[in-house]
Amino acid sequence: MAEQFDVIVAGAGMAGELAAIMAAKGGAKTILLDRNDQQEAGKKTNWGWVCGDACAKAHVDFIEKEAGIKLTAPEIDHKVDGVYVLSPDMKNKFLFDGEGYTLDRPKYARKMVGEAVKAGADYRPKHEVEGPIVQNGELVGVFGKDQNTQHFEIHAKIIIDALGMASTLRRRLPPNEYIEKDVSTDDIESTGRYIARFDHVKEDPNYYDPKNAIIHLNQQLAPGGYGWVFPKSDGKINIGIGVEKKSLDIRNKKLGKSDTLHKLIDEYVAWVPTLKNMRIDETDHNGKGYWSVAVRRQFDSLVYKNYMGAGDTMTMPNPISAGGIGPAMVAGILAGKTAAEAIAARDTSMDFLWRYNQRFNDAYGNKTAGLEVFRIFLQSLNNEQINYGMEHFLTKEETTAMAYGLVPEITLASTFNKVLSGLGNIGAFKNLIFAHSKMKKLIEMYKKYPKSTGEFKAWKEAVAKEIAEAKARFPPNPV
Ligand SMILES: Cc1cc2nc3c(=O)[nH]c(=O)nc-3n(C[C@H](O)[C@H](O)[C@H](O)COP(=O)(O)OP(=O)(O)OC[C@H]3O[C@@H](n4cnc5c(N)ncnc54)[C@H](O)[C@@H]3O)c2cc1C
Repeated sequence: MAEQFDVIVAGAGMAGELAAIMAAKGGAKTILLDRNDQQEAGKKTNWGWVCGDACAKAHVDFIEKEAGIKLTAPEIDHKVDGVYVLSPDMKNKFLFDGEGYTLDRPKYARKMVGEAVKAGADYRPKHEVEGPIVQNGELVGVFGKDQNTQHFEIHAKIIIDALGMASTLRRRLPPNEYIEKDVSTDDIESTGRYIARFDHVKEDPNYYDPKNAIIHLNQQLAPGGYGWVFPKSDGKINIGIGVEKKSLDIRNKKLGKSDTLHKLIDEYVAWVPTLKNMRIDETDHNGKGYWSVAVRRQFDSLVYKNYMGAGDTMTMPNPISAGGIGPAMVAGILAGKTAAEAIAARDTSMDFLWRYNQRFNDAYGNKTAGLEVFRIFLQSLNNEQINYGMEHFLTKEETTAMAYGLVPEITLASTFNKVLSGLGNIGAFKNLIFAHSKMKKLIEMYKKYPKSTGEFKAWKEAVAKEIAEAKARFPPNPV
C-alpha cells in the first residue's frame, strides 16, 4: 500500500519549503520531498544553489506576515538599498528595484526545512521524484527513488510541484490545456555566476557598490540579458551574467566569434575594471555555477486537476530581471495556504484550487505579461539604441515604473521633440510606443483574469495573440 498524505510538496527550494510550511500550518497532512540530503536542501544542481541571491525586502516581509517567520542573519546575508541598471555606455543609471537583501541560500534553505518540520510536515531528503502517478486520468500521487535508490510511491489529494525549471512532474502530466509541458528556448536565459572575493583596485559605484546591486545592460557582453555585480557579506561578491541563446548566436555571427556562456562570464569579470584577482568562495561548494531561468509570464494557469505549481516550474521569474526568488516565495505561500483550505473544505476540485491562480495574479502575476513584452522589446535593441533610449525616450521615473511593470502614462509626446533631433531613432521610438501600448493592454487583460475554468481558454488565447504580435514585431537584434 502506498503511503497516503493530504498534500505532497515536491522540491524543497524557495517555493516548496514555504508551500510545505503553509500546508502543514493549515492542518493538512503534508510531505516535503527533495532529492538532496538535509545539509544540501534546496540545492538546484550539482553546481550548487546557483543564483544571484538578490531578493526584495517586500517579499521577505510577506513571509513574516503570512507565515510568521522572521528572516535574519545568517540566512539574510547582506542588505542593499536598491538595484541600479546602467546603460551600455555607463552614462545613464536607473533605480530598478528598492530595498532588498542578498540571501545565503544554503543557510536559508536549511532554516526553512527546519521550519517545515516544526510546522508538522514530514520532510524526506534524498527522494528523487520521477513522475506523477495517474489513475483513470486523475493525478493521485508521485513516484520516484528513495534514499536507498528503491522505488517509492506516495499518494495524496493534492500535489504541489515546486521542482524548479526542469520539473519531472510538470513535464509528465497528462496532456491538458492548463499546464504547458515545455518552455520555448526563446524565453530562457542561460545564466551563470561566481561567488568570490576580489582586490578592489579602485572605488567606482557603477561597477561595485557595497550598498547597492548593480546591473549592466550590454548586448555585447551579455546578449539578450545582462551582467550583475551584487554585494554580499564580508566583502564577497555575487557576479554573473545571463544570455539568451538566439541573441548570443546573432551577436557571435555579427562579431565573427563563437563565444559561450562560460567564456562570456569570464570576459565580464575581466571587464569590470575595479575588481581584480578573483578568489572563488567555496563555502558549501557553492562558488561557481550555471543554470537556466525562464523569463516569460508565469504559465497562464498554475492549477490542473489535483495539481498546483509554484516557482520556476511555472516560469515565475520576473521577465526583465529574472528575479525568481520573490515570486517563488509568494507562490509557495499561496499554494500551501490554498491546498490546506481545500483539504479542510474537503473539496480538492480544480474549481476550488482555481482561487490560487487568482491569488497569485493579484499578489504578483498581473504585471508579468507586460514585462515579457518589455523584455522582448529590449532584446530587439542594440547598445546604441539602448543608450539613446535611456538618455532621451523616458524619464528616470518612467523607466523605473516600466521596470516594475506599472506602465505609467509616460510623457512620450513631450519627448518627441528630442527624438526628432535624432531621426535615425524614430523607428525605435515608435517601437517603444507599440511596446508601451501592448503592456497596457496586457495589464488590462490580467485585471480580468478568468474567475473560473470555463472562461480560461478564450482568455489564454487572447493573451497568446498579444505576445505573439510582440515577438513578431521585435525579433532579437543585439550588438
Ligand atoms: C544564475 C542565476 C541567477 C539568479 N539570480 C537571481 C536573483 O538574484 N534574484 C532572484 O530573485 N532570482 C534569481 N534567480 C532565479 C532564482 O534562483 C529561482 O527563481 C528560484 O531558485 C526558484 O525557486 P524554486 O523553488 O522554484 O526552484 P529551485 O530553487 O530550483 O528549487 C527546486 C528544488 O527541487 C529539487 N528538485 C528538482 N528536481 C527534483 C526531483 N526530480 N526530485 C526531487 N527534488 C528535485 C531541487 O534540487 C531543489 O532543491 C537566478 C537564477 C539563476 C540560475
